[in-house]
Amino acid sequence: MLDGRDPRYDVLFEPLAIGPVTAKNRFYQVPHCNGGGYRDPSAAAAMRGIKSEGGWGVIFTEQCEMHHTSEITPFIELRLWEDKDIPMLAKMAGKMKEHGALAGIQLAYSGINGPNLYTKEVPLAVSAGPIRTFTNDPVQARALSKDEIRDLRRWFVNAAKRAKIAGFDLICLYGAHGFGIFQHFLSRATNMRDDEYGGSLENRSRFAREVIADMRDAVGDSMGLTLRVSLDESIGDLGFSNAEVREFIDMNKDLPDLWDLAHGTWEECSGPSRFKEEAAQEALVRGIRELSSKPVVGVGRFTSPDVMAKMVRSGVLDAIGCARPSIADPFLPKKIEEGRIEDIRECIGCNICITGDMTMSISRCTQNPTFMEEWRKGWHPERMNPKGRTETVLVVGAGPAGLEATRALAERGYDVALAEAGRVLGGRVARERHLPGLSAWGRVADYRTYQISQKPNVETYFDSALDAAAILEFGFQNICIATGATWRRDGVSRQHVVPFPVDAAMPVFTPDDIMDGQRPSGHIVIYDDDHYYMGGVLAELLRNEGCAVTIVTPSAYLSDWTVNTLEQHTIHKRLAEMGVEIVLNRGVTEIGVGHVVSNCTYTDQTRQIDCDAVVVVASKRENNQLFHDLKAHEADWADAGIASVRIIGDAEAPGPIAWATYAGHRYARELDGEDIGDALPFRREITELAVD
Ligand code: ADP
Ligand code: SF4
Repeated sequence: MLDGRDPRYDVLFEPLAIGPVTAKNRFYQVPHCNGGGYRDPSAAAAMRGIKSEGGWGVIFTEQCEMHHTSEITPFIELRLWEDKDIPMLAKMAGKMKEHGALAGIQLAYSGINGPNLYTKEVPLAVSAGPIRTFTNDPVQARALSKDEIRDLRRWFVNAAKRAKIAGFDLICLYGAHGFGIFQHFLSRATNMRDDEYGGSLENRSRFAREVIADMRDAVGDSMGLTLRVSLDESIGDLGFSNAEVREFIDMNKDLPDLWDLAHGTWEECSGPSRFKEEAAQEALVRGIRELSSKPVVGVGRFTSPDVMAKMVRSGVLDAIGCARPSIADPFLPKKIEEGRIEDIRECIGCNICITGDMTMSISRCTQNPTFMEEWRKGWHPERMNPKGRTETVLVVGAGPAGLEATRALAERGYDVALAEAGRVLGGRVARERHLPGLSAWGRVADYRTYQISQKPNVETYFDSALDAAAILEFGFQNICIATGATWRRDGVSRQHVVPFPVDAAMPVFTPDDIMDGQRPSGHIVIYDDDHYYMGGVLAELLRNEGCAVTIVTPSAYLSDWTVNTLEQHTIHKRLAEMGVEIVLNRGVTEIGVGHVVSNCTYTDQTRQIDCDAVVVVASKRENNQLFHDLKAHEADWADAGIASVRIIGDAEAPGPIAWATYAGHRYARELDGEDIGDALPFRREITELAVD
């Protein structure tokens, strides 16, 4: 039902002048990575194009390395090193502008953050020092000479001219998150120069002033220039503090055409919902707008139109900066405009999207399985392909996989029956949302539950633990098994490929037991050989409830994989501060009564850790019995009217929630599709072979 826009949100649809160009509304997609970059330019361009269709007023690229003397390999971003790069970026800009958005490019010179592993150039930084990267590369940068600062200014101008030829309307100069050279000049932590570019804040601002003046001369008549700085470097007085940021803006009032204010480090700016609320940056940004006549944009994982409207109406921000909310729902502005608030697919703040960049793969989104598949697979976030030749589908299991399959199948026009053994929708999400910090993850279930409730062609059945015999009797044409997975009790994961010795007299719990409400007491050892969030979350839960907790992991890092979701540091800090004992580089080889035997990952030397109970966070076992039972009756399928039986999600192969929503979506897309044989199920780009 389209009721039209609620007048409360009118303020979000007012145009905004940014220098010589005007954005049609206040929805501002700030630069964000996607894991595709220069390797997958058409996939990235199509993804930005979808956002244009979804109503964003401004759409930016991710960071674009503007000169070959500074690059951040192995991370895959964009490049604008020579004219050859222009067509790729022109495609991007064209897609962004297709539906009336302003196209922006973020120019990055990484300085002290660029190890130059690919170009093998000696890194140039504001001051000499070791390269600061996630990977601690053993490389140091040397300081830019004054001649080279002049060169760098020229390189920025060259990049700006190329960006203009590519068709961009806006340039964002990157000086935030500790990553861009503008911040390196501004911060005393990275600027130790004793010439006119170092020392006083005025001197440290000089480079930004010079580059912006150069660029205004070159492209300022037609392009808007924005400066992205962090609101607080968050390393105390030595860094570019919030007080100094305010002083800088006050001193350079109208320097850029727009102030783009990020948070502190990337970890803070993209803080997960486990640790950061919506609009968490408000205190740092409030009042800055009064220092300058130029508009201010800020971020804060905004998904609520009320919060967004409040930010603009109360004068904190002029435009609403969104990265993750625009990934989870590229049609967020359009839905607000059309009065379809309940259709917004809210970001859950899990940071799975960021893992695409961190693992140099290609990004996924837990909420939006079509993210980065717009070109590769032709998937649209709001439109499904037409229904195929069959009519009916039985989806068994209402976890993220089953719910997404149901929603998307119904969208295609199938009659869907969703059978769930329990009494709630959501599967693992319905359980995990009650764990500390994970309540926003429940949006995975909430969004789909509401969408399904609006579909006349979906019937939902609770208390329906189906078996093969029942399914064979029902007469559905397609059966989708999405029955999930169960945490293993026997310790099998990475350290142990076969079960390890456990004394039956010792209380041993799995994450499922804890989520079912069972509780150990006394001193608990959590053995974490899963390495994602669950071990750390359970440590937090049990410590909160008064247990003494020791978490033992064979990894060198607690919750190792959360490095990729930018949470690892915060998780370790929180648990350490709560008094959880953290034991790294050690496994568990045996569970006895009153203790575990723990071995050193390197020397295998063992020691006993006394405890009252053990929580084993190992791997998961697929709940695939039903699928195998059906397979055993394959000869009866035709008589039962069954055309296909598939197993998807955790029941097929357990993984993060994003893998399950993707599996559900893919199943729905591909049902009744043509058999592609051995062909690749997605498009890709390959490097053009040089002639000589
Ligand atoms: P996924 O992440 O793949 O979606 P989940 O574990 O979150 O998997 O969800 C699986 C859901 O399937 C759970 O809600 C569970 O109750 C349900 N389920 C498991 N076995 C059956 C069955 N035989 N019949 C109906 N529902 C089932
Ligand atoms: Fe939000 Fe998670 Fe999607 Fe990223 S992956 S946009 S954090 S829901």
